[in-house]
Amino acid sequence: MSSRHVIAVDLGGTNWRIAQYDESGTCLAKTKIRAASELEPEAGLALLGDAIAAFIQKQGGAPAPLAVGVGSPGPISVDRNIVMEAPNLPTWHHVPVRSLLASRLGLPVRLENDANLAALGEFSYGAGRDAESLLMVTLGTGIGGGFVSHGRLWTGAHGAAMEIGHTYVGGDVRCGCGAVGCIEEYASGPGIARLYAEQTGQTIDSHAIFERREAGEADATQVVAAASRMLGMGLVSWQKILDPEQIVVSGGLSAQWESFVEPAIAVANENDFESWRGRIRVTRALLGGDAGLAGAAFLALDPPA
Ligand SMILES: [Zn+2]
Repeated sequence: MSSRHVIAVDLGGTNWRIAQYDESGTCLAKTKIRAASELEPEAGLALLGDAIAAFIQKQGGAPAPLAVGVGSPGPISVDRNIVMEAPNLPTWHHVPVRSLLASRLGLPVRLENDANLAALGEFSYGAGRDAESLLMVTLGTGIGGGFVSHGRLWTGAHGAAMEIGHTYVGGDVRCGCGAVGCIEEYASGPGIARLYAEQTGQTIDSHAIFERREAGEADATQVVAAASRMLGMGLVSWQKILDPEQIVVSGGLSAQWESFVEPAIAVANENDFESWRGRIRVTRALLGGDAGLAGAAFLALDPPA
């Protein structure tokens, strides 16, 4: 039985989840409240603080949690105190989540971006628990990333590292970020839908495109192959920059493993240095939607900075 317990919080767009973990990464209890997205941040955080306090009380008795780890969408300040802005929480601009929650709860609080925490969760308790370094790639409506080395997240000098969805892979398609040729414009769900619409004039979502590919449609087969090739070029570029021991793939599109991810791994290997050929190790994520909570727990177990 592990004796060190912590609280993990995930500030999602719809729900705010609260969980208690022990230091082995086992979730002992979980609850959620509706995201207070319509409230001013101070009022929303007061609500969250009360919910966390009530949750801790409900678990009752020892051991009392040592700290709280919080995952938030959107960019976080370099000192990891402030949520700069959060998609789905329109009233949130420059909110000092860490200090506000810490003073309300009387517990140390650690704050991190939710995609980074998902990487930390898979590193510590999921698909990467035997690796010393891990790159997490999330393939969905966008392409996100997180990089962990020896238990530490690499968040960058400005807190803006691992925006891997905006890696240049070619072409002149304008991305939402303002640049051209970002991999997200090809190998995300909307990217695949855009490629298909360009080729056929039909606007359908990526899920339907994979179904058509399954049924043997030539256009869908070509589009998925092109998107998969772009993903492969991304994977090999990231491997060349970071050389992670393991790459873990999550997100909705990771369900298309045989048709989409596996051919991308082959492309990545073909384009790697000959001397290191075969080093690129890509596996599926294991923790699903709980990766961020697990990462928040791992972060909270670390002595507060
Ligand atoms: Zn971009």
